[in-house]
Amino acid sequence: MRNFDKKGLMNQRHVLTGVVAAGLMMLPGAFGSSSALAQQKTERNTLSYGELIQKADKGEIKKVELDQVEQTARVYLAGQKPDTPPLQVRLLNQNPELINKLKEKNVDFGEVSSAGNRAAVGLLINLMWILPLVALMLLFLRRSANASNQAMSFGKSRARFQMEAKTGVKFDDVAGVQEAKEELQEVVTFLKQPEKFTAVGAKIPKGVLLVGPPGTGKTLLAKAIAGEAGVPFFSMSGSEFVEMFVGVGASRVRDLFKKAKDNAPCLIFIDEIDAVGRQRGAGIGGGNDEREQTLNQLLTEMDGFEGNTGIIIIAATNRPDVLDSALLRPGRFDRQVIVDVPDLKGRQDILTVHAQNKKIDPTVSLEAIARRTPGFTGADLANLLNEAAILTARRRKEAVTDLEIDNAIDRVVAGMEGTALVDSKNKRLIAYHEVGHALVGTLVKGHDPVQKVTLIPRGQALGLTWFTPNEEQGLISRSQILARIAAALGGRAAEEIVFGKAEVTTGAGNDLQQVTNMARQMVTKFGMSDLGPVSLENQNNEVFLGRDWMNKSEYSEEIAAKIDATVREIINRSYVQAKELLQENRLILERVVDLLIEQETIDGDVFRTIVADYSKLQVTNEQVAVPY
Ligand code: ADP
Ligand code: MG
Ligand code: ZN
Repeated sequence: MRNFDKKGLMNQRHVLTGVVAAGLMMLPGAFGSSSALAQQKTERNTLSYGELIQKADKGEIKKVELDQVEQTARVYLAGQKPDTPPLQVRLLNQNPELINKLKEKNVDFGEVSSAGNRAAVGLLINLMWILPLVALMLLFLRRSANASNQAMSFGKSRARFQMEAKTGVKFDDVAGVQEAKEELQEVVTFLKQPEKFTAVGAKIPKGVLLVGPPGTGKTLLAKAIAGEAGVPFFSMSGSEFVEMFVGVGASRVRDLFKKAKDNAPCLIFIDEIDAVGRQRGAGIGGGNDEREQTLNQLLTEMDGFEGNTGIIIIAATNRPDVLDSALLRPGRFDRQVIVDVPDLKGRQDILTVHAQNKKIDPTVSLEAIARRTPGFTGADLANLLNEAAILTARRRKEAVTDLEIDNAIDRVVAGMEGTALVDSKNKRLIAYHEVGHALVGTLVKGHDPVQKVTLIPRGQALGLTWFTPNEEQGLISRSQILARIAAALGGRAAEEIVFGKAEVTTGAGNDLQQVTNMARQMVTKFGMSDLGPVSLENQNNEVFLGRDWMNKSEYSEEIAAKIDATVREIINRSYVQAKELLQENRLILERVVDLLIEQETIDGDVFRTIVADYSKLQVTNEQVAVPY
């Protein structure tokens, strides 16, 4: 660094000398260089510009070398001895006359770049040294300006929205949401051929609200509309509108719409609109000025353009219930399109879309994957296939096989795989616990079949029992819920039977939570208990800040006590049933636990074969119905 500095300084001095020398000589057009000094010393060897022209006219010149950098010409006269040095001529800035003359007289001339143009090099090095400095200074200036101006300029949008001229997404890329696609097809026509509608006097809708859980493809659908219609896509997230200062959000809304109007026809996509569009004047602590101003601005902007300007606004949310009603009235987001979690067929279609760009073994059945993944959204499925592909690459395989898919599902659902425990009392206890779930689940009527039992830890769980969900049943009966409660209690029941009351563990904590939840819903929500077919719960009992959160319970203390008692009774009876089932089938329990400790994972089919074999020996070969 220091060396470089010195060199820079030296060069600077060099250049200065050059300029001074040239200044002293007062030569027209002489822009300093070290050769100016050289010229003084070789006086005899010079020629004036005028003399050069004259000599050229007379044809006394053999050859001229032009040096534009030093602005000199080296002149070789005709009949000059080969070892005589050339005559130096100081040139003007532009020398068209000379060049024409030389051409006319057929003199050999050419450009040379002087080897000694150190001045230029020096200047360059100087520049290189100065430039970073200037850049740094600018940076500092900008910084401090920013800091001091922040308070003044926050109202000006630092464009927070994105614009994509072409999204490149088509409806074919979105699968499993057929109804939504059909409804949105119309929006594409609005954007593409508005004349069709305006001709008959129809007003084109301004806003469409996409409602659905995260990951179901709302953003993707909005992009597909823009892609199909071939219009630009402006997008912004609701949360990006709102900042700390009042008025920022409103000005961002204004900017967004202004930009969109300049680019009409186009599509504006507002993600997570609930972040701005919440019920005004509600929630803890009253309203939020900034959010309300932003929302007001949004409403104003939506009213401010005619439906026929070719702008369509698509907003997405998973909480339509918290939206301000002004947003939903006609003329604003008057259309709502539900984008729901896909069903079996939908999942298969989504898998097909995402399998297209992956190498998947032909033996893999996408339908089987779809069957195993109820409740998965499009984003989950895309993630699943990607995880499987990553595993495949890590295993250096050619194509994704069932094994990788299976591992990926486990991973997506239950988390990372851990290492199995060594054989110990703990491992045995976990084995009994898991087989308890599996066995009770198999022996009671109406439970989903066991898919596999494993002792390999995953995520938080030390062991896992997987059941294949019964496909898309939609409605669940009372006996099915009771079966689930019994199976969920099977783990704790097995621990108690084998190790005694004193030895039961915390491992059942999560099970008990689920059990209590199910039992409580039976009583308060579904009217499946002695309390009769009444709903004792608010439809909407979640607390959120967008609305009144003081949901008073709608029943008396007395009923509350009854609910608690009934829930406890359901759970206790199920627990007794689970224990009985396990005691009656203790032999199967022991056999499966031994096998599980040996093999770590048992497949559902293997498990069922063992159960069936033993059941033949015993008399109880029929599934037990839940007794109450
Ligand atoms: P949302 O906006 O509803 O939260 P996204 O549209 O952002 O969900 O979806 C995230 C990703 O999941 C998409 O980029 C896509 O890869 C995948 N995906 C989600 N839904 C679908 C679908 N219906 N069809 C195909 N891919 C989907
Ligand atoms: Mg989204
Ligand atoms: Zn359990």
